[in-house]
Amino acid sequence: MPFTLQPLPFAPDALEPHISQTTVEFHHGKHQQAYVDNLNKALEPYPFFANWSLEQLLLYSSQLPSDIRTSVRRNAGGVYNHQFYWSTMQPAAAPPSMPEGTLMQAMQAFFSSFDAFVAAFKNAAIQVFGSGYAWLVRLQDGSLAIITTANQDTPLPNGLIPGLCIDVWEHAYYLDRQNRRAEYIDHWFALVNWQAVARNLFNR
Ligand code: MN
Repeated sequence: MPFTLQPLPFAPDALEPHISQTTVEFHHGKHQQAYVDNLNKALEPYPFFANWSLEQLLLYSSQLPSDIRTSVRRNAGGVYNHQFYWSTMQPAAAPPSMPEGTLMQAMQAFFSSFDAFVAAFKNAAIQVFGSGYAWLVRLQDGSLAIITTANQDTPLPNGLIPGLCIDVWEHAYYLDRQNRRAEYIDHWFALVNWQAVARNLFNR
């Protein structure tokens, strides 16, 4: 099978008390695993695409056979988005992280301050209707922006460079916070690894 479940970059209990071990285990071991399995199943009849990366599948999905195009886009997006989500979080016990240098300057330039960015990002994440993600992205002109995507869509086909995402599907927080998405967003912010965000945005 070409795609496998990428291990978490931390222990499943490392995000507590902000995100519980149970949520992390279900989110990673059941939800993310299902996207991996369904992506592999969709691609099985077409070994030609076996060596395509997730990014290639998402960027060039229009070249895929029509009978698997939607399934591959959804499931490759599900794998990509979850890998991205975990990769910009750090254990709760790690030293608190803050944007520095280029990233902090960009925050001030494009959102007026880091606090204003946090407020705008939180608002965007709250406003996602149904299931989806909020993202901090870099545009082709170098500016930063907050966008949202529905379901398992990714920013990649629009030429955007993703720096940070929050998953606001209910499975990301319902066991811990029930319908209190705003509370989940506040707890998630305490886990963001801003060094990883800066690498995503600027070191490419
Ligand atoms: Mn999810």
